[in-house]
Amino acid sequence: MINFTSSELKIAKKLELLKAQAGSHSPSIITFKQKLPEIKIKVDACFLSNPYATDLFIEYFDKEILRNGKIRELLECYPSQNSVIAETLGAFLNINPLNIFIGNGAIEIIQAVIHNFTIRKIMINIPTFSSYYEYVKAGVEVVYNNLDKGNSYDLDVREYIDSVKLHRPDTIVLINPNNPNGGYTRIADVQMILEELCFVTNIIIDESFIHFAYENEAFQLVSLSHLVEKYPNLIVIKSMSKDFGVAGIRAGYGIMNAKYVEQLLSNGYLWNSNGLAEYFFRLYTDKDFALKYDRVRIRYIVETLEFIEQLKELPHIKVYPSMANFVLIELKDGMKSADFVSKLLISYGIYIRTCDDKIGLQGEFIRLASRSKAENEYIIASISACILEKPVSYLVNETVD
Ligand SMILES: *Cc1c(COP(=O)(O)O)cnc(C)c1O
Repeated sequence: MINFTSSELKIAKKLELLKAQAGSHSPSIITFKQKLPEIKIKVDACFLSNPYATDLFIEYFDKEILRNGKIRELLECYPSQNSVIAETLGAFLNINPLNIFIGNGAIEIIQAVIHNFTIRKIMINIPTFSSYYEYVKAGVEVVYNNLDKGNSYDLDVREYIDSVKLHRPDTIVLINPNNPNGGYTRIADVQMILEELCFVTNIIIDESFIHFAYENEAFQLVSLSHLVEKYPNLIVIKSMSKDFGVAGIRAGYGIMNAKYVEQLLSNGYLWNSNGLAEYFFRLYTDKDFALKYDRVRIRYIVETLEFIEQLKELPHIKVYPSMANFVLIELKDGMKSADFVSKLLISYGIYIRTCDDKIGLQGEFIRLASRSKAENEYIIASISACILEKPVSYLVNETVD
């Protein structure tokens, strides 16, 4: 169904190699530019971020830092210490700063928490974000909880609670909304999990995509971080990379009991942040910025919903329900995800993620991020051309040779 010309095939082979070298995460756009310059990436729908939020950040950064020369200070000086940045955040989030740990991206917090506080057994829902099982230390048992394909890989809360009671892990992980499928567990259900599983030492809730989820028509923000005081076993991990579109800055935070924060800080992490991240956190807690951010957040959610509706119209694919800024798509009728990903990249310059390395998925899957409105339109036209093997006329002129 997906055919390659001989020059496309050559590039596809190189692409395979590059992907293999990147392990369980995708090669970055910068790596592509260096190692595979024959590929011209027009749309990055692999990494997951709100492009409008990136625009907003750059607007502020340009005005407040670049144009008045303050960039020198950000580069020349040490950033504030971890606990000082936590104070700024605490005031904004209305959370005790002693409960806040700042990370060099959420990934550092995942690593710190799992290395230090998971002793015996961790239970992980699959499919998932791979770091959660890759960072487990030797000697810790990993139990996988298979999310059911028949239930669109959404979490069945009752079944989950029973399974945790049966296996008795000391750590459980719930990514909400989940990556790679976008499945969402409502706050009331997560609270039920917290109530019933009080015997679990560490309940990690990863809210890296929570700004895209909502429970009412106003798309109001939801989060569990304020519950850390009530449930001392709750650890909320929050990446800023996706919803604020600033993965390059490496900013994230964890909310957890004060003893854990103290234990981590006494072990290092003093200046694990950087000047740019500190500036970002200052903006994040700024009322004016927060107001504008909320507007681009909602605009992006609305456009993502439209994008998903259009994708659902296309033949030979199944689009899974998502509350995040991406969708999991199952390729039907014999299409292979590796071919699909290569074809979209080589012929249309669209970078998406193959899911053939994701444990817990049965079938051929890709994950596709929502981008700006114009980019989403280009993605829809290209995917439809790719599926139907009928190049859309305006796309032909733009293909890479
Ligand atoms: C991307 C991602 C992270 C890592 O985020 P960084 O802040 O960029 O390190 C953590 N958890 C999930 C579920 C993610 O998708």
